[in-house]
Amino acid sequence: MARPAFWHNTKRYYDLKSYWHNAFGCNVYKLPIDAGFTCPNRDGRAGTGGCIYCDGRGSRLRQDGALPAVTEQIRRGKAFYTEARKAGKYVAYFQTFTNTYGPVDHLREIYDEALGCEDVIGLSIGTRPDCVPDDVLDLLGGYAEQKHVWLEFGLQSIHEETLRLLNRGHNMGQFVDACERAAKRNLNICVHVIIGLPGEDKEHCLETARTLASLPIRGIKIHSLLALQGTVLGEWFEKGEVDLIGREEYVDIVCDVLEILPSEVVIQRLTADGYREIFLGPAWAINKRAVLNAIDAEMKRRDSHQGNKFCKQNLSLV
Ligand code: SF4
Repeated sequence: MARPAFWHNTKRYYDLKSYWHNAFGCNVYKLPIDAGFTCPNRDGRAGTGGCIYCDGRGSRLRQDGALPAVTEQIRRGKAFYTEARKAGKYVAYFQTFTNTYGPVDHLREIYDEALGCEDVIGLSIGTRPDCVPDDVLDLLGGYAEQKHVWLEFGLQSIHEETLRLLNRGHNMGQFVDACERAAKRNLNICVHVIIGLPGEDKEHCLETARTLASLPIRGIKIHSLLALQGTVLGEWFEKGEVDLIGREEYVDIVCDVLEILPSEVVIQRLTADGYREIFLGPAWAINKRAVLNAIDAEMKRRDSHQGNKFCKQNLSLV
């Protein structure tokens, strides 16, 4: 099977940069925004303690002191890109913690603020499957009629046992329901998946990929499990109670997952940013370029590409 012509790239998967160029004819950059949210899996509404791999900062973006306004964060982000790279268009990426966890009027206020900034063509909202009530999806669906809107769900695995072990605080049924309600409103759904989770082997990951291939998702972010100081997983790792996946195995599984996913699914990420100051392992994951090169080399060795093994008949729904 030939690589899909609509990718307009030389890669073996549909990378985000190519997608942006196809959709908008220019470079598009995601500007990370910390709007001061917390997480229902930390404050007791869905759970306490958070996911076992989460260090509690939501992302490296969270800072001490008062947060700058959304417009100021966007101004700073745009200034960076203007200086560092050829400027294009921007998507406001509400990244830190759970960015739909608030009253809908407040959400409207901050999303409007972002969309009112020059050259911001859309939103990408990071959230949880159990935190998208219909009034929030209606708000986002309204934006999607004129703007480009992504909804990013942390999921990591389709397997209930794994979700419990990770202390995710939601189940797979909630994820499927959230996807269906979001897709009805024409939102682009991106799912976050981790490879190398405790108790999971290659077949678990492939089942996750097959199930996601059967759902109305438009994008995926994949990375290997990272152990960070200050997390439950980090403690397990330091006590020798958990093994982290090796690079060769990770690359092999990623390539299998890419082959299963439909060619239209945008691969937004295949590596993770570890916070260097609290990073415990695996050491190989620090060198993201080497990981991406190894994935490219393996796909070339297989003479394969994303979607090569996508088969509607073989999809498994949970
Ligand atoms: S849902 Fe996200 S922010 Fe909340 S505890 Fe889990 S990883 Fe951390």
